Amino acid sequence: MATGKINVSVDNIFPLIKKFLYSDHEIFLRELISNATDATLKLKHLTAIGEAKVEYGNPLIEVKIDKEGKKLHVIDQGLGMTEEEVKKYINEVAFSGAEEFLNKYEDSAKDAGIIGHFGLGFYSAFMVAHKVEIITKSYKEEPAVHWTCDGSPNFTIEESNKTERGTEIILHIAEDSTEFLEEGRIRELLRKYNKFMPVPIKFGTKTETLPKPEDAKEEDPAPTKEVDNIINNPNPAWTKQPTDLKDEDYKSFYRELYPMQFEEPLFHIHLNVDYPFNLTGILYFPKLTNDLNIQKDKIQLYQNQVFVTDNVEGIVPEFLTMLRGVIDSPDIPLNVSRSYLQADGAVKKISSYITGKVADKLNSLFKNNREDFEKKWNDIKIVIEYGMLSEDKFFEKADKFALYPTVDGAYYTFEELQEKIKGNQTDKDDKMVILYASDKEAQHSYIETAKAKGYEVLLLDSPIIGHLMQKLETTKEKISFARVDADHIDKLIQKEDTQISKLSDEEKEKLKADLEAVFGEKSNYTVQLEAMDSDASPFVITEPEFLRRMKEMQQTGGG
Ligand code: ADP
Ligand code: MG
Repeated sequence: MATGKINVSVDNIFPLIKKFLYSDHEIFLRELISNATDATLKLKHLTAIGEAKVEYGNPLIEVKIDKEGKKLHVIDQGLGMTEEEVKKYINEVAFSGAEEFLNKYEDSAKDAGIIGHFGLGFYSAFMVAHKVEIITKSYKEEPAVHWTCDGSPNFTIEESNKTERGTEIILHIAEDSTEFLEEGRIRELLRKYNKFMPVPIKFGTKTETLPKPEDAKEEDPAPTKEVDNIINNPNPAWTKQPTDLKDEDYKSFYRELYPMQFEEPLFHIHLNVDYPFNLTGILYFPKLTNDLNIQKDKIQLYQNQVFVTDNVEGIVPEFLTMLRGVIDSPDIPLNVSRSYLQADGAVKKISSYITGKVADKLNSLFKNNREDFEKKWNDIKIVIEYGMLSEDKFFEKADKFALYPTVDGAYYTFEELQEKIKGNQTDKDDKMVILYASDKEAQHSYIETAKAKGYEVLLLDSPIIGHLMQKLETTKEKISFARVDADHIDKLIQKEDTQISKLSDEEKEKLKADLEAVFGEKSNYTVQLEAMDSDASPFVITEPEFLRRMKEMQQTGGG
């Protein structure tokens, strides 16, 4: 047996590891399984190019709890390590990796949440173990190696009698980390971090019921068999080519991602790019309501099929955090704070690629099946309107397919709407006035009045529409929005006289004076007799558009 001392500049790194990663101890398992996966895929590559002359077979990674021995095992059938390699990769590379990590991120570690997004590799095992063993046999014809380290910079290394190729990591779980000896806790971690890792991961066995043999009697129990319990799906949909997937495959992947979600997604967007950055993924549009308290944090971020986080803020524009699905990219730097992330050039490109893809998909849905798009509009408008407000590039694209429904159930694009009302809804300043209602019932008589005059009335009721109208008013030339109960309605210049008041001028004057007395002279409400539509409402009371909007903005706290 040989002993040695890991070359350390800080005397003992392990207390530091514990201290800095206190809240994220659980990531050790993800790190060890990532290493096991790397080792397996490296062997696959070496056999494929003929460098390793061994049978690759169907390798597994196994996670095993030894509750009595207080040990946790992670076993792979990958390329293994020779003694030289253990010295190099574990004592030097892994160690310097850990040391570098700690030096570099000592400060950012305080920036909550960053640290768990990426690991410090092999040495993260010491967050939960007081002693770690590596038993490994390389695919090369060399004796197996047994390395032991008790958490100090001292280690021992000796020959082992392991015969199968691959690496077994044994963690002697520390007293304060015994939760990691619980089956339920490990299963939870595997589900969280490793659900879609590319090599099958075995955790225990399960009983499978086999078909009864033909000559079995009715009362005979069906035969059973113990089989490996594989916890992951190594080939998730996003890693496949879009041409190889049917609609049903996307739906079933959605159910795999969100088993508790019973509502089907409205549609999906498959992301797939390898230049100038690498990114794959599938985004889903869920049914959204008008409620702005939409649950975010539903998009999961992966790096090479390893779960990183479900907070993608900073990586996709805010309005897209309302979607669901998966983004997988090795090119997203995770060792930085959110504000840095938003300023990072690569991340900006990724974010604008995703935004562009979403806009393109919406555009093609609109073009290819407008009827269906109209049907879905109510469920997707909040994302689109929010996007148009916050991203100018998205606004440009969405302006072609964003819809403006009328109270009668027609849907116009902005261009179509302009075409429709041109010449008939213009005020004295030659501005096109777009009339809308926000509540069909409450504003019924106003709506009828406007319609009787031959105006189009939109039904715009989403919570941010006020802001979008303002944006449209500043972006487009010579248009303005006015709610049907605003004072605009009588200021429109009509092509022909469609006034339908049945009162005489004298009667009007009297009624006006009476009503104004009731509402008080100082009020900003105006009584409009010209606007009446039927015997049921001989007059309407209007409030200036600007005044009402100001009140609304104060309520929603924005401008
Ligand atoms: P990284 O994975 O980023 O290289 P780690 O600290 O996780 O850093 O691992 C250090 C090195 O140790 C790896 O690069 C690899 O060479 C070696 N290693 C770790 N685990 C295994 C394993 N299960 N099989 C083979 N080699 C391993
Ligand atoms: Mg690693």
